[in-house]
Amino acid sequence: MANAVKGVIAGAKGAPVQVETILVPDPGPGEVLVRIQACGVCHTDLHYREGAITNDFPFLLGHEASGIVEKVGPNVTNVAPGDFVILAWRAPCGTCRSCLRGRPWYCFASRNAQQKMTRQDGTPLAAAIGIGAFAELALVAAGQAVKVNPAARPEAAGLVGCGIMAGLGAAINTAGVSRGDSVAVIGCGGVGNAAIAGAKLAGAHTIIGVDVDDRKLEWAKQFGATHTINSRHTDPVQAIRDLTGGNGVNVAIEAVGKPETYRQAFYARDHAGTVVLVGVPSPEMKIELPLLEVFGRGGVLRSSWYGDCLPTRDFPMYIDLYLQGRLDLERFVSETITLDKVEEAFHKMERGEVLRSVVVF
Ligand SMILES: [Zn+2]
Ligand SMILES: [Zn+2]
Repeated sequence: MANAVKGVIAGAKGAPVQVETILVPDPGPGEVLVRIQACGVCHTDLHYREGAITNDFPFLLGHEASGIVEKVGPNVTNVAPGDFVILAWRAPCGTCRSCLRGRPWYCFASRNAQQKMTRQDGTPLAAAIGIGAFAELALVAAGQAVKVNPAARPEAAGLVGCGIMAGLGAAINTAGVSRGDSVAVIGCGGVGNAAIAGAKLAGAHTIIGVDVDDRKLEWAKQFGATHTINSRHTDPVQAIRDLTGGNGVNVAIEAVGKPETYRQAFYARDHAGTVVLVGVPSPEMKIELPLLEVFGRGGVLRSSWYGDCLPTRDFPMYIDLYLQGRLDLERFVSETITLDKVEEAFHKMERGEVLRSVVVF
C-alpha cells in the first residue's frame, strides 16, 4: 500500500519548490517507514533545486530529519515501531572494499530504500541524498534509521543527521583535534559552528572563528570560539599567526568550499599541521599552490565527507552529550517553520540570516 502525504518537490532546475501530494510505499524487506517530526533546511537541498548535484528532476527534498518509526518491513531488526530515530545518509553496506577494510565511514555502496516515492501520477521522485524527508512520511533503508534517546527535542536531534555531524566530525573524526590544540575554522555557518563546537568538545585550547559576517562571528563565540576574525577587514592568515605566537594553528578547517578560503586555511596552519576541507566546492573551482610549499609545510591535507561519521556510533553519542548539556544543539535551531515555508527558508539561508530553519510537522 502507498501512503498519500504532503512533500516538498523541486520540479525543475532553479524553479521554486512546491508542496505536493506524494505517494510513499509501505516498507518492503530491509526498509523502514518513518513519521517525520522535524527536518532542517540544508544548503544541499538548495543545491539540488539549482541542479548543481544531478539533473534527475523531480527531487523530493529534505534530509536532516528525525522522527518515529511507523512500520518496518521484513528482516528489519535494528529498529521497531515507536523508536525515535535520526535519519542518516550513510548506511554502510558491510561488503564493499572500504567496509571490508574496516573503514565503514568511507562506504562506497551506502544503502537506500529500494522502492521509490512517487508523484500521484506515478512519476518516480529522486530523494535528496537518498532520504527525502520534507514529507510527513519517509521510506529509508533500515540502516539509515539510527535509534537515539527519545528525550531529545526532534528539531535539535534531526540536525545531527547532516550539517551538524559534518562539522563536529570534521573537527573530531577527520582532523582528530585533541586537548591543547589550536584550531581555526573558516566560515561560521551551521557546519563551521558545529566544527567550533566539536573543537571545544575535543579540548582545543585556542579556537579561532573566521568569517566576513559579524553576525556569524557572534554565533561562533557562542559555540566556543575563543577569538574571532572578520576577514573582510583583516588578513586572516596574519591574524591567525598573531594569535598563535607567530606560528599558525595546528588544525585549519575550511567550511566554505572556495579556493581563496582554502588557500587561507593552507597558509594559516603551523608546520606539519592539518587542513580539513569540509566546505563543498562547485565543479568549476580550481586551486593553485606552490608545490614546494605543499612539500615544505608537511602535515596533512584532508577532505571530510559527512564528518567521516559512523552514524550508529556517533548519532547516539552526540545526542547523549546534548542531553548532558555538553553540546548545545538547540542553538543551531534559528527558527521552526511549516512545510510550505521551505522556499522562503532558502532565501533566508542565502542571506545568511539563519543557522538552520527547521520544518516541524
Ligand atoms: Zn560499504
Ligand atoms: Zn545536508
